Amino acid sequence: MEKRLTITVDGPAGSGKSTVSRILAERISYMYLDTGLLYRAIAYKAMQRGISIADDEALRELCDGINIPLEADGDMRVLVDGEDVSGPDFIGTRTEEIGMLASSISAVSAVRDALLPLQRSAGEHGGIVTEGRDMGTVVFPNADVKFFLDADVDERARRRYEQLVENGGNANLDEVKRGLETRDYRDTRRAVAPLKPADDSVIIDTTGIDIEEVVRMMMVIVKERAKGVGAG
Ligand code: C5P
Repeated sequence: MEKRLTITVDGPAGSGKSTVSRILAERISYMYLDTGLLYRAIAYKAMQRGISIADDEALRELCDGINIPLEADGDMRVLVDGEDVSGPDFIGTRTEEIGMLASSISAVSAVRDALLPLQRSAGEHGGIVTEGRDMGTVVFPNADVKFFLDADVDERARRRYEQLVENGGNANLDEVKRGLETRDYRDTRRAVAPLKPADDSVIIDTTGIDIEEVVRMMMVIVKERAKGVGAG
């Protein structure tokens, strides 16, 4: 029987994770799971409801209201208390402000603990490309293929800036860069599930490499591994 692989993609903000993970998942007809969106969803709702990041109990309750119905077409939706906060037209969770709050909230153990089983159950049957900060280290330590994407901070800031402008947002390149540096600092130094490459990950520096080329490099590795585990 064909084994459907679990593929993890970790890396800092602006490293190209989301774009390449989505394309990779589409090409191999796998599901795509953007775990940053879960933390963003909690941040968005916490801000709406005036919940402090020190209020573990209220944050945990928000996590209990999260549901990620997996769509047959591989698209990922995130519902919080029934509200879809993930559609392409929903930009409330995509702002830099929410990214920054998500970074603070993601350091709260109660939140990470609550989101862990949700992420694992989404990936329990394989056939998934899942991206975040701790996919290969904590959530799916036995994944079949682990990638860690990185890029020079100036390039990451430029990509993020262009994405924000494209989405109709108001952005300033210097501010975007400072925001990324703050998030990187927090994400790599927090006590729980810090951002770092898993020991067995394939590290790809995407600086100066276009998306198609990164996907091509990843596909080569995925195909090799699939042969190794008797899939595909
Ligand atoms: O990837 P994205 O920028 O959407 O993630 C928002 C924030 O959520 C990150 O800065 C990080 O702090 C947090 N996050 C996390 N673990 C993940 C995914 C995201 O801590 N697996």
